[in-house]
Amino acid sequence: NTKPAVTVIGLGPMGRAMAGAFLDHGHPVTVWNRTASKADELVARGAIRAATIGEALGAAELIVLSLTDYDVLYALLEPVAEALSGKVIANLTSDTPGRAREAARWFAERGARQLTGGVQTPPTEIGNPEASIFYSGPEDVFAAHRDTLAVLSGTDYRGADPGLAALYYQLQMDLFWPSVVAYVHALAVARANGITAAEFEPYALSMLKTVTEGIGYVSARIDSGEYPGDLERLAMGEASVRHVVHTAEEAGVDSSLPSAVLDAFRRGVAAGHGEDSFTSLVEVFAKGTV
Ligand code: NDP
Repeated sequence: NTKPAVTVIGLGPMGRAMAGAFLDHGHPVTVWNRTASKADELVARGAIRAATIGEALGAAELIVLSLTDYDVLYALLEPVAEALSGKVIANLTSDTPGRAREAARWFAERGARQLTGGVQTPPTEIGNPEASIFYSGPEDVFAAHRDTLAVLSGTDYRGADPGLAALYYQLQMDLFWPSVVAYVHALAVARANGITAAEFEPYALSMLKTVTEGIGYVSARIDSGEYPGDLERLAMGEASVRHVVHTAEEAGVDSSLPSAVLDAFRRGVAAGHGEDSFTSLVEVFAKGTV
């Protein structure tokens, strides 16, 4: 076997999918997990179960970490830090850009080099080249391991700053969570009015298409720093969001989510952006909460 060996530490749904993909592509795979039984199926498919985390680190140059968060990472690796020297850590654990940079320094102090990863796909999409993982960190390290990492998904290298992959991931999540929760909220209002999700779904898709088509409009205004209110005005948006809040309240549904949006509109109007586009809210957000 000429394919590089890989160690996967952390066998939640994501780590198991990743170890499975490496096995499918013929890489020698060593695995370790706190709950050892989660490795059983992988061992049956040819993975080697390391008895200790130190043994797992010793089995390959490339170590893939798929842990709940960085607190778990330090708790697991601090006691075996001497085994990290010379290792390449593909840290595919989610956390903030600041914590990714801190971890890169922590690994460097112990003689290891970190590639930060931001996994944009569910475990079911691991192994699909159409899926994508953000990477950042030393470019030579990425280049040396790109072919192995490409087994997991498409690779999107964002730059040398170890925080970048985490940052792009969090930006995606910043968009994702409020969007899907907004849909859940709309469905709560629908349900309170006797309308099922299935009945509303085609209209949701139509609205999301409008949102998608409007992305370029938003980006252009924000990058130019000019927010002309020629097509829509923030003051109009404020009235519109107030109606959304009142519609939820009429239905007896919690209105805290649209109320947070209404609050941003109000602060924008108070800051003198009433005649500007709603994209001027970027200036309100940039100032933090006052
Ligand atoms: P899980 O939280 O299910 O599992 C991660 C691993 O962390 C498990 O192996 C678990 O061990 C281990 N772990 C947690 N706490 C401890 C601890 N105190 N001591 C030792 N080990 C511990 O995560 P996922 O597999 O779902 O995800 C892994 C990473 O991938 C996360 O950072 C997540 O944000 C990211 N991700 C996940 C996605 C998903 O859809 N699942 C999508 C995109 C990114 P044990 O089995 O013993 O509990």
